[in-house]
Amino acid sequence: MEDRLFRDAMGKFATGVTVVTTKLEDGSHGMTANAFMSVSLDPKLVVVSVGHKARFLSKVQESKKFAVNILSAEQKEMSMVFAGQLKDEVEINFEELAGLPILPGALAQVSCEVVSEYVEGDHTLFIGKVLDIKLNDGEPLIFFAGKYRELVELEQVKTI
Ligand code: FAD
Ligand code: NAD
Repeated sequence: MEDRLFRDAMGKFATGVTVVTTKLEDGSHGMTANAFMSVSLDPKLVVVSVGHKARFLSKVQESKKFAVNILSAEQKEMSMVFAGQLKDEVEINFEELAGLPILPGALAQVSCEVVSEYVEGDHTLFIGKVLDIKLNDGEPLIFFAGKYRELVELEQVKTI
């Protein structure tokens, strides 16, 4: 099967956009990811999927911790920065939550410690146990068919 067909099909699944961050002795690191999911309520677990070519992979493997920053509609540039899509380097003033760097202005920041790692094909799935959460108001950044979008609320339908 062609990679393009697979990507086009997966791209039909509209998602939010996150920047997953971590910290080592040399400083803070981040990577844009839409492969993020809530896994369990009791205990509170989430999963992120990191490609084996991403430099970010070894950082999480070493730190055993990560934070998920759910981006707002105003943070398209942040998504592009942490996907390596911008030419110029941008200096980020991270805040901190449970000892992890978080992006100011994100809709939700979720700090986690890695409790399991699963190598599946060319990605590794990191299961994170939630340590702390911060929430902010705003609208989400959406990724659909390879493009950034904004959310539109549909008209209310009368129910019985
Ligand atoms: P690097 O080149 O090391 O880092 C990426 C960029 O982040 C660089 O430009 C770097 O300057 C910047 N950066 C990192 N840390 C800092 C810092 N402290 N301060 C300032 N800038 C910093 N890949 C996946 O594996 N899983 C996914 O779920 C996923 N989803 C994606 C969703 C979208 C919408 C997009 C656009 C990309 C997605 N990717 C995903 C691809 C992934 O974001 C890129 O391949 C990324 O560049 C790989 O990370 P890296 O660690 O190799 O990159
Ligand atoms: P695209 O058409 O490549 O992405 C559409 C969808 O395909 C994504 O939402 C994702 O579900 C899937 N996908 C794309 N690349 C994948 C990969 N390497 N592994 C698993 N699933 C993948 O959109 P685009 O605008 O061309 O993406 C920009 C860049 O970000 C590309 O290099 C793409 O590979 C990468 N990306 C990677 C992932 C991922 O690794 N999970 C997810 C999204 C985007």
